[in-house]
Amino acid sequence: MSLVLHNTLTRSKAPFVPLDATNVRLYACGPTVYDRAHIGNARPIIVFDVLFRLLRHLYNAKNVTYVRNITDVDDKINARAAERGISIRDLTEDTASAFRADVDALGVLRPSVEPRATEHIAEMIALIEKLIARGHAYAADGHVLFDVPSMPAYGRLANRTLDEMEAGARVEVAPYKRDAMDFVLWKPSEPDLPGWDSPWGRGRPGWHIECSAMSWKHLGEVFDIHAGGIDLVFPHHENEIAQSCCAFGNDVMANVWLHNGFLQVEGEKMSKSLGNFTTIRDLLNDWQGDVIRLAMLSTHYRQPINWSLKSLQDSEKALAGWFDMAGEGAEPRPAPGVLDALNDDLNTPKMIAEMHAMKGAAGKKSLAGTLDFLGFRAGEFADWRAATAPEPNIPVAEIEALLAQRLDARRTKNWAAADVIREKLSAHGIAIKDSPDGTTWEVMR
Ligand code: AMP
Ligand code: ZN
Repeated sequence: MSLVLHNTLTRSKAPFVPLDATNVRLYACGPTVYDRAHIGNARPIIVFDVLFRLLRHLYNAKNVTYVRNITDVDDKINARAAERGISIRDLTEDTASAFRADVDALGVLRPSVEPRATEHIAEMIALIEKLIARGHAYAADGHVLFDVPSMPAYGRLANRTLDEMEAGARVEVAPYKRDAMDFVLWKPSEPDLPGWDSPWGRGRPGWHIECSAMSWKHLGEVFDIHAGGIDLVFPHHENEIAQSCCAFGNDVMANVWLHNGFLQVEGEKMSKSLGNFTTIRDLLNDWQGDVIRLAMLSTHYRQPINWSLKSLQDSEKALAGWFDMAGEGAEPRPAPGVLDALNDDLNTPKMIAEMHAMKGAAGKKSLAGTLDFLGFRAGEFADWRAATAPEPNIPVAEIEALLAQRLDARRTKNWAAADVIREKLSAHGIAIKDSPDGTTWEVMR
C-alpha cells in the first residue's frame, strides 16, 4: 500500500505523489519563540516527526527535506521582552534553545533546516515587491497590505467565500486598508522595536509573509506538503497561499495541506486561566520523552486529543512491555502492518494496535525494528524507569532471601513451593522475571 494523506484543500484522502521523488519537501510552521512550548505545541512536532520518518523510509532519508521554522520576529515577542525587561534577542535565543532541548528530549528528529524569520528579511522584501509589481499588494501609510479581493481563489483552504469571511471575521479596520480582509505584509517599526530598512521605510514583517519567504528559500515556489495545527488554517495558511501563489503566478503553494487537531486537557481547553497549562518541560520532569511521544500518538492526528494521566500511564506500560520483549540490535524498519497503518493517513492508533499484536520470535524482531524506526530509546527509558522506581515495602534483604529459597525450590523441581514464594512477593507488590541469566525483580507500578 502506498502513502495516502488527508488534504485539507480537497477535504479528502488521496495517494501522495511527490513532485520529485528525489527531493520530497515538507514544511511545518514552527514555534513563535516568546515562551516555553506547551504540550499542545508538542502535538504537531511529534505527529509530523512520524511523517518525516515515514517519508525517509519510503523515499530514502537523503531525498527528504523537512523545514520547520522559528518565528523570532513577532509582536508577542516584543511585548514579552518588554514585560520581562530583557532584550528581544535574549528572549528569542533563550526560548529557541529551550525549545530545541524540549524537542530533543521528546526523541523527535531535528528537521533538515530550521530557518529563523530574522535571517530571511531580504526574501520577505523580495516577495512583497513581487506582489506589488503583480498588483496583489499596495503600500499605504508606511504599511504594505495584501489586496485580498485581487485573488479570486482566496478562501479555498478555509472553504469559505470572501463574503462569509468578512461577515465572520473580527478584523481590524484600519484607515489604510482598502478592504477589511486585507492583511499586513509589512508595517512600520518604532525606534525601540526590531526593524529593517525597506523600500517602504524602516519596518518589520507581518507573520504570514515569514513562512512564505522561508518555504520559498528552502523548498522552492511549490512544494509537496505543508503542515500545522488546525488553528492555522485561517488566516495563517490561507494568507501564506495567497502570498506565495500571487507572487509567483502559481495555482498552488503546496500540494497537500495537513492539519492536526487540538489537544485538550482532561476534557477542557488548555489555557493559563484554567490553570491546566502544562509546558513540555513540566511534563518532562515527570515522564520520559518516549512516554509522552507514544501518548501523543495514541490518538489519530486529525482528532482532538484528550490529554490525560491515564494515557501516559498506559504508554509507559506499553513501552515497558515492548522493550522487554524486543531486545536490541534490530535494523530500524517498520513491520508491514505498521507501515500499512502509517500509510493510511498516519493511522497511529492502528500502528499501536499492530505493535501490541506482535508475538513470538518473528514478532519480537518486527517489534524491535519498529521501535528503532520510530526512534524509541530503550536505554533512556530503562534509566528513567530505574530512577523513578518506587521503593519496595519489604526490605531488599528479605526479597533476596525469598528469591534464593525459590531458586532452591526450582532446582529440586518443587514448582508448588516456587509458586508460593512468587505469590508472596507479588502480594508485596514485587514482580519477578526469570531469564537464562537469572531472576530479576521490580516493584510493580
Ligand atoms: P504557536 O506557537 O501558537 O504559533 O503554535 C505552534 C504550533 O502548535 C502550531 O502548529 C499550532 O497550530 C500548534 N498548537 C498550538 N496549540 C495547540 C493545541 N492546544 N493543540 C494542538 N496543536 C496546537
Ligand atoms: Zn506558517
